[in-house]
Amino acid sequence: MTDPLTRLRQLQAADLPVHGGRTLAYVYDSGLPDVDAIGREAVAAYAGSNGLDPTAFPSMLQMENELVGYACGLLDAPDTAVGTVTSGGTESVLLAVQGARDARPDVVRPRMVIPSTAHAAFHKAAHYFGVEPVVVPVGPDFRADADAMAAAIDESTVLVVASAPSYAHGVVDPVPAIAAAAAAAGVRCHVDACIGGWVLPFAPRIGRDVPPWTFAVEGVTSISVDTHKYAYAPKGTSLLLHRTPELRRPQYFASAAWPGYTMLNSTLQSTKSGGPLAGAWAVTQAIGSEGYAALAGQVFEAVDLVVAGIAALPPLRLVAHPDSTLVAFTTDDTLDPFTLIDELVARGWFVQPQLSFAGLPATVHLSLSAATLPHVPEFLDALAAAVEAAVAAGPVAVDAGVADFVTALDPTTLSDDDFDGLLAFAGLAGEGVALPDRMAPVNALLDLASPATREAVLVAFLDRLSRPVRATI
Ligand SMILES: *Cc1c(COP(=O)(O)O)cnc(C)c1O
Repeated sequence: MTDPLTRLRQLQAADLPVHGGRTLAYVYDSGLPDVDAIGREAVAAYAGSNGLDPTAFPSMLQMENELVGYACGLLDAPDTAVGTVTSGGTESVLLAVQGARDARPDVVRPRMVIPSTAHAAFHKAAHYFGVEPVVVPVGPDFRADADAMAAAIDESTVLVVASAPSYAHGVVDPVPAIAAAAAAAGVRCHVDACIGGWVLPFAPRIGRDVPPWTFAVEGVTSISVDTHKYAYAPKGTSLLLHRTPELRRPQYFASAAWPGYTMLNSTLQSTKSGGPLAGAWAVTQAIGSEGYAALAGQVFEAVDLVVAGIAALPPLRLVAHPDSTLVAFTTDDTLDPFTLIDELVARGWFVQPQLSFAGLPATVHLSLSAATLPHVPEFLDALAAAVEAAVAAGPVAVDAGVADFVTALDPTTLSDDDFDGLLAFAGLAGEGVALPDRMAPVNALLDLASPATREAVLVAFLDRLSRPVRATI
């Protein structure tokens, strides 16, 4: 029998690389192997520690308070600010919404006002916590429309949301105007800086302007920032900061309603591994402020080079000039964006498709990392070659009958058999987890479908992927 670690390495060979700067979504690479090694060692050292009880593992409380304290400085937090380490951006967002809801028990049907570009985690929070999302379309610049958001606030609003920046388009919302409207109505304002919160603070130091979005903005009550993104920490941590302890209070959960230990939690998890926290603490210590400023310089240089490279390719168009480290672009009619993505993937560059949504075009998403900088010339060569290949390949042919069928589909009426048929048709059925080599036909089909159909089809797909492998050990 192969030893487990050898087998793991074999399995992992099928995954996207997490180092090398060529995976432009999901992973964030500092390009500093020594720092990564420190992070891995810290994760391993704390893999068995349990954050359930900070009195039993006081070192975890210490690391959490130090990490939050450092973030307070980054985010211009007042002396009253407090924070919590969570498992990721989604958990931070869930808790921001849950806390806002539970701070207002007087509101029978709580609502939150969010821009249409707010991260899907807010829709998950809406689903979990019964807070109705009031979705306000963004303006032509892809930024939240502050006036329309202000007008959408009513007596049932418990939270108003802005992004710094939005994941899909990489632009920072007009936080001062949004936060002012929220404050005027006595409503909480959460800034989702999950992806920008650890890199934007370093931008002014290297001479780049960023619109205001931190606690320096009056009316901002909480901010989320993911350390497993641009703090370049191992996966599994994010921070949720509140302006005051009172604002955080409803996030805490205690239960003495059973005969065991009194459960006392600051996050959704109860038992939680010390690994991710120790990894984040160690990596941030190892990189330090100077290191982060240097990494920000590298990633922003990469952004500028990629932006210039895209401008030099006429079939491509940026959706907005990036305020941060994310680049989103569209294609003109001469090529299909999903084919372009397949061509980039075939050349060793993982980039992410974003389907068209509510009048916003389908786009190609790049989350750049510091480690991408030395490879930008190769990326731009690959991009030019991919454009050429995508133009040559022509449009993705979706049969008109199929297009009509998919467009008209009401997923709530479909049976499991119908889903099996649809998945088989889309090339997404069969044994194992192998995806088709070319995803463009699948993406083109999904792009025609309504959001509800996309959700239902992909849930059915995930369900089929997730089947037990019965092996003896
Ligand atoms: C990544 C991200 C999230 C969700 O974070 P996860 O760590 O993937 O759960 C939320 N908001 C924004 C803006 C993000 O970029």
